[in-house]
Amino acid sequence: MKERFRRSMAGLAAITLALGGVSAPLMAQNAPAPAGPTPNGPTDAQLMDDANSTGDVLTYGMGPRAQRFSPLTQINAENVGKLVPAFAASLGGEKQRGQESQPLVYDGTIYVTGSYSRLFAFDARTGEQKWKYEARLPDGIMPCCDVVNRGAAIYGDKIIFATLDARLVALNRHTGKVVWNKQIADYQAGYSATAAPLIVHGMVITGNSGGEFGIVGAVEARDVNTGELIWHRPVVEGNMGTLRGKDNGITGKLNATWEGDQWKTGGGATWLGGTYDPDTNLLYFGTGNPAPWNSHLRKGDNLYTASTLAIDPDTGVIKWHFQTTPHDGWDFDGVNEFIPFDATINGKPMKLGAKADRNGYFFVLDRTNGKFISASRFVMKTTWAEGFTKDGKPIVIPAGRPGDPAAAAKGPSVFSSPSFLGGKNWMPMAYNQGTGLFYVPSNDWGMDIWNEPISYKKGAAFLGAGFTIKPIAEDHIGALRAMDPKTGKIVWEYKNKAPLWGGVLTTAGNLVFTGTPEGYLKAFDAKTGQELWKFQTGSGVVGSPVTWEQDGEQYVAVMSGWGGAVPLWGGEVAKSFKDINQGGSLWVFKMPKG
Ligand code: CA
Ligand code: CA
Repeated sequence: MKERFRRSMAGLAAITLALGGVSAPLMAQNAPAPAGPTPNGPTDAQLMDDANSTGDVLTYGMGPRAQRFSPLTQINAENVGKLVPAFAASLGGEKQRGQESQPLVYDGTIYVTGSYSRLFAFDARTGEQKWKYEARLPDGIMPCCDVVNRGAAIYGDKIIFATLDARLVALNRHTGKVVWNKQIADYQAGYSATAAPLIVHGMVITGNSGGEFGIVGAVEARDVNTGELIWHRPVVEGNMGTLRGKDNGITGKLNATWEGDQWKTGGGATWLGGTYDPDTNLLYFGTGNPAPWNSHLRKGDNLYTASTLAIDPDTGVIKWHFQTTPHDGWDFDGVNEFIPFDATINGKPMKLGAKADRNGYFFVLDRTNGKFISASRFVMKTTWAEGFTKDGKPIVIPAGRPGDPAAAAKGPSVFSSPSFLGGKNWMPMAYNQGTGLFYVPSNDWGMDIWNEPISYKKGAAFLGAGFTIKPIAEDHIGALRAMDPKTGKIVWEYKNKAPLWGGVLTTAGNLVFTGTPEGYLKAFDAKTGQELWKFQTGSGVVGSPVTWEQDGEQYVAVMSGWGGAVPLWGGEVAKSFKDINQGGSLWVFKMPKG
């Protein structure tokens, strides 16, 4: 594995220049910026209404709830077969790798982030490049799973994104010039950042990456105008939070579910960002694996790793938590997006949230208080648990846990499904308000996994485990599944030979869009799953598609560019797809004229 890390780092060695960040002067601003009109760009109110405003895409997830649902119907299941490219725009550069970004669209401009911490502004009508920004990454950054970035956030005259050296950069959206540039965490300790920031109440809310290096996961809020820290909330029990420079209480209860000092290097990276629900005024962030992977070295549930957390956006205080994989031993990061939605369950209208977890279960919770409603298996096989009790506890299969190496160099190996890359990894699902279904990009695969002794060393991989990923089905690994959140049943599925690694978009036009590593953007009937359209983009699609309306026409856009964790970590699976060409292009589609 160390070899793997070195190999993935090698591509980065050429980028050695130090960051020349410019910090804006600190402003004496003690309260979040008031919601209200910002003269020259999106306001808080506009960000909150993004799901309804069809002329723009202002947020990662197409709305703070990240349902990735558009009410547009001009392109629909009847006519999508005629969809054609309007233009494509290349990110250029010699270094390509995974393009996992979701475009933002505002005021005639498409903003996309690219691999290696780049941000581009393209003309939304022609695809012509307006400007680009390339972060100067220091040597020695340690992203575990490719040099990706998942998207930016827009606010007023700024566009903001996270960089691989664990910084947050705000640019002037007209010029691409740096407005402020702040360090989130120490990249030399293994921290990095790849998620799209979330903006709530005039604050930029971000998480961190680095769960494979014994970091401490955290969520934090910064003033969007200055980048100044407002609150910081570590998500591992025992660590102290802050609010406006003062201590604001320990997370959880010291040593309740961790032994000794293990909480100081406990992982729980919040690497996928979060969602926000204006109804409950709560942020929802998922947390990653506990560190190290070898679970025999850290007894207890290890809260709040592998969990969904509800956080007060104004103070950073945790309001409730739900742990999806207690005492994780398989790298089942619980970071997956928690999507607020409303539905009537047993005759009762409820404010709910859903999450398709890396551990292979689709969870529905009461989003007001975290109360468990249901957990349904959405993959072929789960070897670690048989299901969940009505109280929301996993019915664990003890033989599914990799063995204790004790003093030996290698503990007994077990076969586990899902693999550590998960029943679902980072790629976001979508919720269609018309069909009432969630569309989950999932993967059926397994792994041999074993534990090894390990001790913490700053900036070194902190796993204590080895693994080999394997397919478990003859005909597919990827499966796009339509889940009914009321019944937990799979309504339809589309099987794909390669692992699915891109996000999903759904529309009121009865459509579901997603990409494949084989290079296609595909459209499906949202009710039946029938494939209706596909287009070959020239490289694997691992980005998240969006749609909007411009000059009276509906557009669809997606990033193309193969990469991400599968080629780096996929074992036997990666070998099967080693011939997929890399790339880095924005593709934009619309209906032909007339
Ligand atoms: Ca919008
Ligand atoms: Ca992990």
